[in-house]
Amino acid sequence: MAKIIELDSHVADLIAAGEVVERPASVVKELVENSIDAGAGIITVEINAGGMTYIRVTDNGCGIAPEDVKTAFKRHATSKLRGAEGLEAIGTLGFRGEALAAIAAVSRIGLLTREAGAAEGLSLSLEAGQVVDISPAGCPEGTTIIVSDLFFNTPARQKFMKSDRAESSAIASTVLRCALSHPEVSIRFIRDGKQEYHTPGDSRVDSCIYNLFGREFSAGLLAANSSDEFITVTGFVSSPAAARGNRSYQFFFVNGRSIKSLTLQAALEQAFANTLPSGRFPSCVLYITIGLGNVDVNVHPAKTEVKFVSDKQVFDGVYYAALGAVESQRSKTPEQHVDTDKSKSTVWAQKSPGTGAPGAEYSADSGSRFKTMQVDEFRSKYASDNSKSSNPAEQTSPGYPAPGLTPDKSNSIPKFPAPTGFPASLEFPAPTELPVIPDSGFDKAPVRVIGEALNTYIIVEYQNGVWFIDKHAAHERIHFDALRSSGFEPMSQALITPVICRQGHEGVSLLLENGELLEKLGFSVESFGDDSVAVRRIPDEIDIEDAEHVLSEIIAELSHGYAPESARHDNILKSIACKAAIKAGKASDRRELEALVARVMSGEINECPHGRPVAFEITKATLDKGFKRI
Ligand code: ADP
Ligand code: MG
Repeated sequence: MAKIIELDSHVADLIAAGEVVERPASVVKELVENSIDAGAGIITVEINAGGMTYIRVTDNGCGIAPEDVKTAFKRHATSKLRGAEGLEAIGTLGFRGEALAAIAAVSRIGLLTREAGAAEGLSLSLEAGQVVDISPAGCPEGTTIIVSDLFFNTPARQKFMKSDRAESSAIASTVLRCALSHPEVSIRFIRDGKQEYHTPGDSRVDSCIYNLFGREFSAGLLAANSSDEFITVTGFVSSPAAARGNRSYQFFFVNGRSIKSLTLQAALEQAFANTLPSGRFPSCVLYITIGLGNVDVNVHPAKTEVKFVSDKQVFDGVYYAALGAVESQRSKTPEQHVDTDKSKSTVWAQKSPGTGAPGAEYSADSGSRFKTMQVDEFRSKYASDNSKSSNPAEQTSPGYPAPGLTPDKSNSIPKFPAPTGFPASLEFPAPTELPVIPDSGFDKAPVRVIGEALNTYIIVEYQNGVWFIDKHAAHERIHFDALRSSGFEPMSQALITPVICRQGHEGVSLLLENGELLEKLGFSVESFGDDSVAVRRIPDEIDIEDAEHVLSEIIAELSHGYAPESARHDNILKSIACKAAIKAGKASDRRELEALVARVMSGEINECPHGRPVAFEITKATLDKGFKRI
């Protein structure tokens, strides 16, 4: 008997569904994308119980013709692609013809649809992909799809679902991305009977952002634009002062599609490299428009990743748009923040015939506020200061990855500039291994604290050398060890007024689900609206103004997926220790420095909790050699 058989279509659909419909949020994403592709101007999404029992998506789009209705639910059935050549220039969000078939295979579906101008509509019911009823129906123009009892016939998949709250937060953030990606469409999101948000659909990016994220977020944004013959980038980046502790507010859209991309992330962050300390991340809502032939969207079943023909050009477009925004803020044009003054705003142009890409055209008006700076113009303006340090062209090629991802060289010792007349180079060897810090000899030999350089490094003379100590790294280690050795039952301080921290839907959901762990660490947080938490207690070690940052870092830690609790615990303690430690760049009291030196020189501490060295020595011999004494 033959061992190889062709799977029947139902099994094939279930397998495909595993890829396309990973969780309720993926169902919602596909349905909303279909509505956008159908030219809808208004879309309503309603869910109950994290989308597991009920998902409804209603649109006022073009509807589905009666003769197409059954076909729409077949695998590889699409109206958006006619042949292989079309794959090279996909302008719609959908094209694989898989979503409806995949969703239908694992749920019960009710569909109501009426084409524009048709006398009546049609109702269709399916169960596990099989049509159970089809009949004429009176309904408004457009389409409504109701998905009930998701995964009812695939219990194995059900087991992988998280709590209702986690699933509905994932849906909230998916719909939010869809709403941001198409400001010309009005999107309403209702969760368990309550409206969460509603975008106006007036084509204005700023009002869309304002409706979704509120006044404070909007006020921290700067307009970012660049364009050349290859790529147009428009939108907003956060001002450096509004940076966050994680990347949950970085949104990138390529030709109207929300995507994840390390290249774009690195380009954005590189533009902030000189303005943000490590651990702080810019937010952005950036729209990238690029020729359809220069981007391949067919590389991921859920279409959340794309490939660019030229990563470098895309990198440059985003980098210069973001850098222009940061630089223009430095030259003090405060009115570049988003506001709701409708007269001078960035406008998302309506679908323009011929591009094939819904919303792919995006324009800034000619008002002074959002002047578009051409990439070439920008390059010549900033070429001189970028050519040495932050020119991405230099750092990214050859050998991508992008500069944000290149190894951190901050541990190597800088070359001192050599003034004329001095030896050509005074170069100290970089420590190749972690420095060995004296332990036993400390109490015998005297340690002389010379002082502090750059408000960051303590300089110490000890035996036959000069030691440099990173005061922040050392102090961070001391705190970390103390927190850990106390078994970390931290003292926590109750806040008289709770601090409200906006952390995004998924962030809030992670914090609330890990309430117990947070309690152990000295935090007490409660839900406050859909995307914020109210912080009532924080560990004694940190200041109120650092609470939001530490929570952001905790979210970043929790969102890494599974990790043993002890590892998580340690990583969170590191964030707290880092905030509790004296800051580099701020002057310290002499006694404070001496106490630190004593701890470091006793050999108690070798590296900071993140593994960076806290001290290294330049021996007298090295100095003598540099000065050609020997
Ligand atoms: P794809 O979007 O990749 O074409 P889908 O399985 O998502 O595949 O949808 C199949 C087809 O059903 C679409 O190509 C479209 O013609 C039709 N369709 C789906 N949803 C809608 C809708 N909301 N309005 C109009 N047509 C729709
Ligand atoms: Mg689709």
